[in-house]
Amino acid sequence: MGQTNFYRDTWAEINLDALSYNIEKMRQHIGNDVKLIAVVKANAYGHGDEDIAAAALASGASYLAVAFLDEALALRKKGINAPILVLGACRPIDARLAAEWEITLTVFQPQWLEEASLYLLPDKKLKIHLKLDTGMGRLGVREKDILKKLELSIKQNASIHLEGVYTHFATADEIDSTYLEYQLSHFHKMLSYFDERPKFLHLSNSAAALRFPSTHFNAIRLGISMYGLSPSPEIEEDLPYRLKPVLSLHTKLVHVKKIKKGSKLSYGATYEAEEDEWIGTLPIGYADGWIRRLNGQEVLVNGLRAPIVGRICMDQCLVKLPNEFPVGTVVTLIGRQGGASISVNEIAKKLDTINYEITCMIAGRVPRVYKKDGQVTRILNPLL
Ligand SMILES: *Cc1c(COP(=O)(O)O)cnc(C)c1O
Repeated sequence: MGQTNFYRDTWAEINLDALSYNIEKMRQHIGNDVKLIAVVKANAYGHGDEDIAAAALASGASYLAVAFLDEALALRKKGINAPILVLGACRPIDARLAAEWEITLTVFQPQWLEEASLYLLPDKKLKIHLKLDTGMGRLGVREKDILKKLELSIKQNASIHLEGVYTHFATADEIDSTYLEYQLSHFHKMLSYFDERPKFLHLSNSAAALRFPSTHFNAIRLGISMYGLSPSPEIEEDLPYRLKPVLSLHTKLVHVKKIKKGSKLSYGATYEAEEDEWIGTLPIGYADGWIRRLNGQEVLVNGLRAPIVGRICMDQCLVKLPNEFPVGTVVTLIGRQGGASISVNEIAKKLDTINYEITCMIAGRVPRVYKKDGQVTRILNPLL
């Protein structure tokens, strides 16, 4: 058991065996010559950065990636010593801090490099990866002359080490690969402008890594499929191996009652019982990420589906039960109960969004319970 416990019966279970399985499958898929960069931005897509980073490194990842410097520093402070790449933009003034903590930064502007070098110390090199914009249009070098300028100033700067070059695909999760092929050929072209190729060349997110070996080069950036989720529903059927979802979300019935036909429920009294009904109260609400638009979504109780009824409140919501259940009965919002299951994709579809957004939106106040070899290995409750 971990150092902390939790006192409200709502928790996200994080199955580290599933994580290891997903990484090992990808390791086999890409082969020994390709490095695996585990993407643990946004608190590891809501799964918890520290435990996911440690488990990913133990399962075959050798580099981590996050969105911004604060996320990288947070991992360092939790004792993660592996190399970490910051995928987003950083301020030039923070280059020294990054170098001190051995955090790799993404660079794409000559001015940035000039300014950052003013803050760097000669005995503490900053590792950088150059980002090329081959068609995503977010961050990256788009022109040859800028690329050459960057290459030159890196060469002239003893406190900067160019370790990698990368780009990001915009459409790798779509069936039609035309735009991906365009981006890939653009990358090859821009790569030919370099006098010297740096150590790491990486392009692939999960979707590209799963589907297009020609995009593997010598490293991939694995995010969503490490968490056992398909990059998009449209490619799920054609994936080279089955993914195992890592996160499930559970709560327990804290109150059960029979209400009379015509009784009304929750804020606005918008729900009216059509008959005498069994109603359960769940201690989870929109402040936990179970947002109001999930009204009508089903949950699992004893392997049976039960719909959320009435408005979802900040900390609680109500379900219409198929029959009476005792207080304390486990209710699954995402995950399995016997033969029944509710996937992250089902929730994403209900909310008209992507599965990435669903795991990210499960709030920090929901404790994460880590399981390995079927045993609880740690309980992380940021409140206590
Ligand atoms: C988030 C992110 C990834 C991971 O993408 P997945 O689709 O989750 O595998 C890779 N590269 C960059 C630049 C990213 O921002």
